[in-house]
Amino acid sequence: MTRKTAVQVILVSILVLLPAIQQSYARDKGEQLYTETFQLYKSLASDPSKVNDKKIWETIARAFYSIYINYPESAKAPDSLFVSAKMYEEMGERFDSQADLNMAVEYSRLFVRKYSDSNLADDAQLRVARIIEKESKADAYIEYEKVVEKFPDGDMKTIANNKVQDLSPFKPSKAHKEHESTPSGGGKLINVTQIRHWSTDTYTRVVIQLDKETPFKSMLLKEDPAHGKPPRLFVDIYGSKVDKNLYVEPLTRGLLQDIKFARNTRDKVRVVLYINSFDDYKVFALQDPFRIVMDIQGTGEKPGDYYAKKDTGDFQYKSHLPEDNVSSLSEALGLKIRTVVIDAGHGGHDPGAIGPSGLKEKDVTLKVAKALKEKLDREGRQFGITKVYLTRSDDRFIPLEERTGIAKKYGADLFISIHCNAARDKRAYGTETYILSFTNDQRSLAVAARENATTGISRSEMENVLKKYLLSSKIEESERFAGHVQSSVIQTLSANYQPVKNKGVKKAPFVVLIGADIPSILVETAFITNPRDEKRFKSQAYIDELADGIFAGVKRFSSDVQTASIQ
Ligand SMILES: [Zn+2]
Repeated sequence: MTRKTAVQVILVSILVLLPAIQQSYARDKGEQLYTETFQLYKSLASDPSKVNDKKIWETIARAFYSIYINYPESAKAPDSLFVSAKMYEEMGERFDSQADLNMAVEYSRLFVRKYSDSNLADDAQLRVARIIEKESKADAYIEYEKVVEKFPDGDMKTIANNKVQDLSPFKPSKAHKEHESTPSGGGKLINVTQIRHWSTDTYTRVVIQLDKETPFKSMLLKEDPAHGKPPRLFVDIYGSKVDKNLYVEPLTRGLLQDIKFARNTRDKVRVVLYINSFDDYKVFALQDPFRIVMDIQGTGEKPGDYYAKKDTGDFQYKSHLPEDNVSSLSEALGLKIRTVVIDAGHGGHDPGAIGPSGLKEKDVTLKVAKALKEKLDREGRQFGITKVYLTRSDDRFIPLEERTGIAKKYGADLFISIHCNAARDKRAYGTETYILSFTNDQRSLAVAARENATTGISRSEMENVLKKYLLSSKIEESERFAGHVQSSVIQTLSANYQPVKNKGVKKAPFVVLIGADIPSILVETAFITNPRDEKRFKSQAYIDELADGIFAGVKRFSSDVQTASIQ
């Protein structure tokens, strides 16, 4: 059996189950789905034609996770999350994939947080320790210690205790403090000038802007029900004071309840975020001007996680048409793509790259973005896309981190950032599509450095930021999405323009894609520095062709699950 047919068999098996699943929904949809998915999981191990197919493993692991997300009240929600984490560990071992091991750690930690009373919580914590031990014995020591301390009555205590003994030479000398930079030695105080934020019910990004770089430290305070206080995340900014013109946009409804700031000591400003619910947070800094970016994920469903849309909870299965079954399946697995955010690169005082005759990248990207929006508005409904937004619709500067914030605020399922490439060699030409990841490829790094230029972030700083986000960025989906867009753009352009060069899908660390945690791509449409391509960019026909190409890629990606399973 080919890999593709094996995937189809799995999808078809899920389809065949649908009528049975439907009947029992009144009782417990989640429980039924869990039982059926578990059967598929069991059959996987015993079937040599499937057991080495990563796609099938992923489909089932993802199905478990979507049960946990879509049926949080089900008795099987904890088991679904637990088995999903278990499968990712198995995938990590079987396919030698660090990304899957990381996923197993993330889901296991989530399990420990959400279901600390479950008798599987110590197993989940042990899984975290076991996986981390491969990377760092010191970090593993701390994780094994947690098994012993948090679950003294659990059946994993003995194993963990032995590990703590074995690893005692690696015991860290002092507690590791997160997000801490070295306090400054005083001097002139730096102004906190702006606090900006974007929120949904389950996500918020807050950006604190200062007029100069300064050390800061963030810390989370747990919920305090006795005093009626929600979880709070605060940032201490050393050597700083509140600018008298500090502007904070008014709060609207969302995860973020309140923002308070005050001069905490003579030379320290404390900014406190009051959060409705808390699941995870990340903090990083950007330069020029210096700003501290905080991403906070609320508990429960995640808006940026397209497996977790609220409105997929009440879907109806229709069994008479295969298409309906398929779309129901994609809904059950949460693969529906409805909202697209298109980002026209650069703008305002940032022109982007400039062509030999003076054409500016910011003007080209806006035209392509608008043409793409128009086409998606007109025809996207055919394949489920009902909302299309632009990050900017005129010539204005938007910081890179704000663009992702806007996408999250709109609840985007897909994010497309549009750019023009540039090179010293005027002869360079071609189209390439990027996703967010590490790379050692010098050319890709140069492209990222140019696109990140307005953030002043260095390569090593960017790598540190990226480490925090790689788990939650949808790399595989983004890669698939990028593949569709890249090949569609090449196909569309080839019909009317020659020469066209397919430079392929590439990876590089782009700030604009950080924190999107939805399939996200950056399209380098063509080289504005190439006189022939610059001339093409000036014609609306070429702009429309580019938009058509990207549109075709979005369409193919959105229809992916459907076509894969009804063939
Ligand atoms: Zn650009």
